[in-house]
Amino acid sequence: YGDYNQKIDYVFKVVLIGDSAVGKTQLLARFARNAFNVDSKATIGVEFQTKTLIIDNKTVKAQIWDTAGQERYRAVTSAYYRGAVGAMLVYDMTKRQSFDHMARWLEELRGHADKNIVIMLIGNKCDLATLRAVPVEDAEEFAQRENLFFMETSALESTNVETCFLTILTEIYKING
Ligand code: GDP
Repeated sequence: YGDYNQKIDYVFKVVLIGDSAVGKTQLLARFARNAFNVDSKATIGVEFQTKTLIIDNKTVKAQIWDTAGQERYRAVTSAYYRGAVGAMLVYDMTKRQSFDHMARWLEELRGHADKNIVIMLIGNKCDLATLRAVPVEDAEEFAQRENLFFMETSALESTNVETCFLTILTEIYKING
């Protein structure tokens, strides 16, 4: 009877941001449901998904928000960032432009979010290694300069997806737990 009576100690809101098509929806699907939809974007309109996990013997409900396609219309609003204690800044490591836009996304995030927000930079699609357009050193340097956690992931192959969510949630717990 699973978690019917489960007591939730903390709810942590984490927002996914970054250009369209970098894989935000698939990262979320992989983490929340261990799924990958080859035919993506059926999820337009879905605002967030949750996953409950145990950190330090506490029950933590992660509420992960996806822009649900709104980033195309620059319609990511302050409501989206409100209450967020974590943010994942996602680029596609085969698309240099999506990485170059990270500074702008970070600026927008810092303009809207709480100053204690935990931010992780994510280079997604690392399964496409032969198409790499962003050297890992460039991302590491940016992350270090801006004080972000950094990881490369593949939502397709499941690489580092669990780890990156667990890392950010554990850091959030250290600050907000
Ligand atoms: P979003 O617009 O940022 O939410 O991006 P989506 O999650 O919709 O993904 C955009 C496209 O990239 C889709 O065709 C996905 O199948 C594909 N995609 C997402 N993650 C990966 C990944 O890790 N590897 C590869 N090869 N493709 C991916």
